[in-house]
Amino acid sequence: MIQRMRRTVSDLHAELVRYDLVAWTAGNVSGRIPGEDLFVIKPSGVSYDELGPENMVLCDLDGNLVEGDHSPSSDTAAHAYVYRNMPEVGGVVHTHSTYASAWAARGEAVPCVLTAMADEFGGEIPVGPFALIGDDSIGQGIVETLKGHRSPAVLMRNHGVFTIGKDPRAAVKAAVMCEDVARTVHVARQLGEPLTIAQDDIDRLYDRYQNVYGQRSPR
Ligand SMILES: [Zn+2]
Repeated sequence: MIQRMRRTVSDLHAELVRYDLVAWTAGNVSGRIPGEDLFVIKPSGVSYDELGPENMVLCDLDGNLVEGDHSPSSDTAAHAYVYRNMPEVGGVVHTHSTYASAWAARGEAVPCVLTAMADEFGGEIPVGPFALIGDDSIGQGIVETLKGHRSPAVLMRNHGVFTIGKDPRAAVKAAVMCEDVARTVHVARQLGEPLTIAQDDIDRLYDRYQNVYGQRSPR
């Protein structure tokens, strides 16, 4: 199971590159080992073309290294905090993707003005607090913002995107969709004020999408 998750998490890092969500060594994906207090995450400071299942790092839910030749990503504490406090989460992704991070730099939530946003996020993509790396502040900010929120993505203020999912693939999908809608709504803003979608319609779209695809565990 650990070996399979090393492969999955390693492969998913290629999706961050494919969708142009990361620069240099920024960004990371992690995946919880089902039924264990363990998760697999990217090693710190290793370039994307050198990533493989063998250099992924296994950590416990306090973020301590359990198995691996490299030190874990510098964002490991944030991932660990999310896994400790959101037992339904099986995957976490972090990026500094351009358009979403531009909204984060302004501390502005992406308003729900596209049906694709209603489907995937069930409303706006919220902003989390400003938090410095080094302790649990980033993890706390993510959990405070996303607990009880439909959105699987949070824009951490002045920083970037964290997404969650039932597994790492769902979290990567949320990161890709987050950047996509952040870009579209940004472009829409250039020539005017995007039209809002009625809350009723947002609710209907979200319910339908979640039931049809059945991909999100309740939270
Ligand atoms: Zn970051």
